[in-house]
Amino acid sequence: MQIAIDGPAGAGKSTAAKALAREMGYLYLDTGAMYRAATLAALKAQTDLSDPEAIAKEVARHSVDFNPEGHVTLDGVDVEDEIRTSRCARHTSDVAPVPKVRERLTEQMRAIAADRDIVMDGRDIGSVVLPGADYKFFITATPEERARRRLLEMEKKGTLEGKSFKEIYEEIVQRDKNDSERETAPLIKTDDALEIVTDNLSPDRVVMTMRDVIGE
Ligand code: C5P
Repeated sequence: MQIAIDGPAGAGKSTAAKALAREMGYLYLDTGAMYRAATLAALKAQTDLSDPEAIAKEVARHSVDFNPEGHVTLDGVDVEDEIRTSRCARHTSDVAPVPKVRERLTEQMRAIAADRDIVMDGRDIGSVVLPGADYKFFITATPEERARRRLLEMEKKGTLEGKSFKEIYEEIVQRDKNDSERETAPLIKTDDALEIVTDNLSPDRVVMTMRDVIGE
């Protein structure tokens, strides 16, 4: 059984996907973490991020994987915390559009999903990675609501670094634009995906909505 969950940043996708996978006893795969780890590799090597060929070459030199705890690893080292910085998130927009990077990571995602029940979240899971998934969900929320949640989360973690709501909002709008307008595997809702707008839904409600659909 394959469950594909796509949507923009900060819509509550990964919280819902993780909870759904836990309840169903399925593996959860955070594909955004893989793009973030590839970005981290390029950042560490001080790759010229305006040069797609250089990015592809650098990323090919490294291995991105998951450890038994489900944390993403770069060359075997747990980088789960390092990939969550806003610098890394911002620069995924340089690395994720590179077709050779996407080919490699997509192949790896499919291999992981091949012989398992899985819940996978990302931007292009229902459209490119697992077009034949048994269930597809598109989880979204207004940019204002997503910025509000991001601000609260950063406050809680102590990673706000003096950022204003406006700055966070603008980062979200920019990332949506980059993800939706890129040529290779842009963020889109496929016709066969069920859209869930989470502005007024608790994380539990989102999971219940998905379970209702799967239950049917
Ligand atoms: O989901 P998360 O915000 O961690 O993803 C980080 C970035 O990785 C996204 O903004 C997007 O550019 C890229 N991504 C992607 N395809 C996926 C998952 C993530 O291009 N399947």
